[in-house]
Amino acid sequence: MSDQPHISFPDGRSIPQVGLGVWQTPNDTAVTAVRAALENGYRHIDTAAIYENEEGVGEGIRASGVARGDIFLTTKLWNDDQGTDSVFRAIDRSLKKLGTDYVDLYLIHWPSPQRGKYRETWKTLVRLRDEGRVRSIGVSNFAAEHLEAIVGDSGVTPVLNQIELHPDFQQKALRAVHDRLGIRTQSWSPLGQGHLLANGVVGDVARRLGRTPAQVIIRWHIQNGLIVIPKSVTPSRIAENFKLFDFELDAAAMQALDSLDDAGARIGPDPMTAAF
Ligand code: NAD
Repeated sequence: MSDQPHISFPDGRSIPQVGLGVWQTPNDTAVTAVRAALENGYRHIDTAAIYENEEGVGEGIRASGVARGDIFLTTKLWNDDQGTDSVFRAIDRSLKKLGTDYVDLYLIHWPSPQRGKYRETWKTLVRLRDEGRVRSIGVSNFAAEHLEAIVGDSGVTPVLNQIELHPDFQQKALRAVHDRLGIRTQSWSPLGQGHLLANGVVGDVARRLGRTPAQVIIRWHIQNGLIVIPKSVTPSRIAENFKLFDFELDAAAMQALDSLDDAGARIGPDPMTAAF
């Protein structure tokens, strides 16, 4: 087991800081990607019901030979399943597909505020956690007002909020809210879905340090205390994206990436207006 960094949760558990993301990865590809990741030292996999690859993720875990107990596995509740009974049915389906009897982390995928159900859904996740089918519970794409509402209702703080975050979209205001509430931040699309790999500032840092652009960006997330889930299905890139623990970005490199922040650089939907 590699001595990779972990981030501790307020609930007493912890998560490996770097994981593999498997969005837009069909089942058969997920098997090989997850297996390659685990063979290269990753111990954290991020999937979701809506990715329709939970079977492949489960198969990749079993094919790797790594013990289930050594792996941190996250899946997410899709918006159509928000509520109470529907959440119990959804987690049963996910666990069956994954071939495991618990997940380490269960997330509400989007607040989907127009449905008016995320507060009820959060209370249901608290029940699931108390029953042991999920170890930790959190959210994704929640804005400050959604976080305040669920914490106010239940007194239970999500361990993390998984949000779009990359060097040119740094979400500083929401991260400050997380810090105030004791919520960890997890970066989705940490490489900007690949577009940042060709960025000139990133390229200059990578050349100076003798690392690849992907490694430089993932290090930036790590050194900011963020939990990070880069995606690749290519075994050589999966390996590259985990060769992170024998170097550091110096202050000049951190500053160079910090300077890329641009409030207009969001790639995905705005959670406040996303109507799905
Ligand atoms: P990403 O920022 O991780 O970029 C992935 C792309 O970058 C790959 O498809 C590949 O083209 C390229 N890439 C990766 N490593 C590379 C390397 N070493 N060299 C060259 N190119 C490389 O994008 P993502 O998949 O959108 O985000 C990562 C994960 O975040 C997803 O797989 C998913 O698990 C999660 N996610 C969650 C949400 C959410 O709503 N919660 C939304 C989007 C993504």
